[in-house]
Amino acid sequence: MQYTLPMSYFEKFKLLAPIDQALDALQFKKPTPIQEKAIPAILKGTDVIGNAQTGTGKTAAFCIPTLTTLLNQPTKTALILVPTRELAIQIEKFWIELSQFCTAVTCVTLVGGVPMDTQLKKMKKNPRLIIATPGRLVDHLQLENFDLKTVAVLILDEADRMLDMGFSAQLNEILRLLPHKRQTLLFSATWDGAVSSLAKKFLSNQMVRITVGEVSQAASSVGQILVNTNESGKRDLLLEEINAERGSILVFTGTQVRTESVANYLEEYGVAVNRLHGGRTQGQRSTALKQFREGKIKVLVATDVAARGIDVSDIAHVINFDLPQIAEDYVHRIGRTGRAGSSGRATSFLTEQDLKRWNEIVELLKKTGSPVPKPTTKKRARAANIEDVESEMVQVQPKSKKPTRSHPQNRRENLWEKGSVKVKPAEEQRIKPKTQR
Ligand code: ADP
Ligand code: MG
Repeated sequence: MQYTLPMSYFEKFKLLAPIDQALDALQFKKPTPIQEKAIPAILKGTDVIGNAQTGTGKTAAFCIPTLTTLLNQPTKTALILVPTRELAIQIEKFWIELSQFCTAVTCVTLVGGVPMDTQLKKMKKNPRLIIATPGRLVDHLQLENFDLKTVAVLILDEADRMLDMGFSAQLNEILRLLPHKRQTLLFSATWDGAVSSLAKKFLSNQMVRITVGEVSQAASSVGQILVNTNESGKRDLLLEEINAERGSILVFTGTQVRTESVANYLEEYGVAVNRLHGGRTQGQRSTALKQFREGKIKVLVATDVAARGIDVSDIAHVINFDLPQIAEDYVHRIGRTGRAGSSGRATSFLTEQDLKRWNEIVELLKKTGSPVPKPTTKKRARAANIEDVESEMVQVQPKSKKPTRSHPQNRRENLWEKGSVKVKPAEEQRIKPKTQR
């Protein structure tokens, strides 16, 4: 009998040789489902909407055909708009790898926190790809530092998040200055009315929408664990989880102040940790990410905005120290682990105050057919079994477990919350770390 190899590899896209070579170097052997569908459509020149959950390889899905276009059309440029600096840098890194065997397809990032004139100098060298946050790009355009007349491909990455972050006005301003004749690609992990109307504004009517899997679905390779606790129990629980985990851990908190206070607490216990939030300088944020990516620190404590879209492979464990305000962020957060098919774990701390938020998350998980973790009171939450999931709403914890305001630890929490993190509360100074962990 004659066997033919299934045509499920990159060769079938008939990509240019230097791109094939780079994919080899990157060890991308087989396209992910979104790449499988989006790459041929984009290569045809169609406007494309790509909806796929986090970690499914959307970056390569748009970078591969865009690089093809730029190689075929030497006078044209491309523009990628992203919500955060981190995401811009991450895409730049991938672009450099993808174009390592090509010439004259240099790329520049235009993001906040970096001097405008440094960026302007780079723009003078006529880069072929601009990766920008909408805010910084508009700053440059208003100063007429350059124009967008050569842009042939526009990509809106994490379009949903750009809207969440209030970039709508800047996006409209940029749209006004873009050539009408162009290809537009819009990628998003979620889909709602706002993203849909953005798509209507930016894309032609002939666009193709590609949806892979259930949008907003929690990556199925992530084992979710839910631990009942209270505010004052969170820190001990966190330390326990960190000590029990060998791999790297991304901890999410609700605010910048909490990010700092949790990271300081862990530092006190000798944990190799850094923090990532919008209140830090660009340099500090880059260092933190680099340390985390290179495994120099075990734990990164972050807020949602800062961590959105970052791709650090090998995150073993995501811990939701605080539940997110927006249910869909839960899916994005836990999507930081279990990237590209590897398995990961996500532990969420649930307090009585969080029940409304948690139930919103449960509804979203159910709606998208994702597994819903059952709450456990076991301190060693990692013992919980992911197979054991049940689609149940969480029951309210007994009232008696609620910590009272007069509880010293509670008072401390409130102090820290008010932003007085610099002054260590008296109790904190007295208690010496139990053991150097
Ligand atoms: P998304 O934007 O959909 O959240 P990313 O583009 O950041 O996902 O990709 C997630 C991870 O998967 C990255 O580390 C990327 O290098 C990897 N990846 C993407 N496509 C492939 C592929 N075809 N083969 C192997 N790894 C891939
Ligand atoms: Mg992405």
